[in-house]
Amino acid sequence: MDISLQQVSYAYAKDTPFEKRALYDVDLLIPSGSYQAIIGHTGSGKSTVLQHLNALLKPTEGVIRIGSTEVVAAKKNKKLREIRQKVGIVFQFPEHQLFDETVLKDIMFGPMNFGVPEEEARQRAIELVRLLGLPEEVMEKSPFDLSGGQMRRVAIAGVLAMNPEVLVLDEPTAGLDPRGRKEIMELFYRLHQEKGLTTVLVTHSMEDAARYADRIAIMHNGQCVLQGIPQEIFSDEDRLMDYRLEVPQSIKFQKKLEEMMGKKLSTLCLTEET
Ligand code: ADP
Repeated sequence: MDISLQQVSYAYAKDTPFEKRALYDVDLLIPSGSYQAIIGHTGSGKSTVLQHLNALLKPTEGVIRIGSTEVVAAKKNKKLREIRQKVGIVFQFPEHQLFDETVLKDIMFGPMNFGVPEEEARQRAIELVRLLGLPEEVMEKSPFDLSGGQMRRVAIAGVLAMNPEVLVLDEPTAGLDPRGRKEIMELFYRLHQEKGLTTVLVTHSMEDAARYADRIAIMHNGQCVLQGIPQEIFSDEDRLMDYRLEVPQSIKFQKKLEEMMGKKLSTLCLTEET
């Protein structure tokens, strides 16, 4: 399922004294099966774009197409429920949204709310607990008795339990230690590779974008100022500097290596993150 934004502008609290323009004429295409990173500094408009991807926000101007569904300001949309099932969002600190008595019930809540039979919802939850590397005994525990990293995995399982076609991740590793960050990012990458899950990563980490994404969009002051494949985006150091962004260390390292060897390397050589 492709998602496209065409000339999308958005203003918070429109037509009030508090009106705040957050997006200006954003064009963005996220093709089905891609791994799209959206990069930018705080306040550049990333979260506002993200909330348009499953129609939590509707554009003030412009059009969003989510699969075959068109979302525009003026029209009521009967397919919102379907869109929310197909496009799952893992918000920042998703563990804050945990609420149920047990991990199992918490993961099953979303699918059952969407009419999935109890047994199937249970099966999905059990598989996801395994997939996310959580010990089986957490299933009957209160999510609030788990460690921070485990709570985050449970919250992610709750989004995956809806079987989304598109997974949107808003700074999914915020607050985790380096090892936890790497584990979660590798897990999302595996899901993308093995299940063909379209993945949208909102991040300020150029390294994560370089390591995982096959498409990159750069937001700056509410505009999408650059988009393309990583090689293109990272080859223009001066342009990145205009937006106060730096070429990731791993790309610099690869360039140096290529210069020394006198030939291009076909795959990205990545230094281990510390
Ligand atoms: P980012 O995710 O890149 O940090 P945001 O999309 O959150 O950026 O914010 C873009 C702009 O919109 C910022 O100027 C921010 O202050 C403003 N903004 C974000 N949320 C709201 C809101 N709920 N009400 C008013 N302005 C907002």
